[in-house]
Amino acid sequence: MSETIFTKIINGEISADIVYEDELCLAFNDINPQAPVHFLVIPKKPVATINDITEADREVVGHLTFVAAKVAKEMGIDHEGYRTVMNCNEFGGQSVYHIHLHVLGGKLLGWPPYTDKPKNLE
Ligand code: AMP
Repeated sequence: MSETIFTKIINGEISADIVYEDELCLAFNDINPQAPVHFLVIPKKPVATINDITEADREVVGHLTFVAAKVAKEMGIDHEGYRTVMNCNEFGGQSVYHIHLHVLGGKLLGWPPYTDKPKNLE
């Protein structure tokens, strides 16, 4: 897969507001937050989309959710609640092709996550 901006963040080539790091993953605040709290948890291993997850990635993919919950607790949004989202491809609204778990919180979130009729229901 071609290198994304997230690989550059992992390699320290561009800066990010990092909130957590370990040997498997990195978490940083989203540059264009959609909620008062909005951070991303990404694996250090580049995997383009959820569709590309293999058996070998099971541990790290589970670890993303573990870290999301840990950082959400540290940020004090665990009690009121928050949302985790992983977008996939065009219909999912994915724009960076390196899997990432969005964690959104700090206010009451809307549902469903679209304003127009979704394309697959037209
Ligand atoms: P998605 O649309 O699901 O692929 O999400 C990609 C997310 O990455 C968006 O919410 C962007 O705002 C965020 N993003 C893109 N570039 C950066 C960056 N350099 N630092 C932090 N977040 C970024």
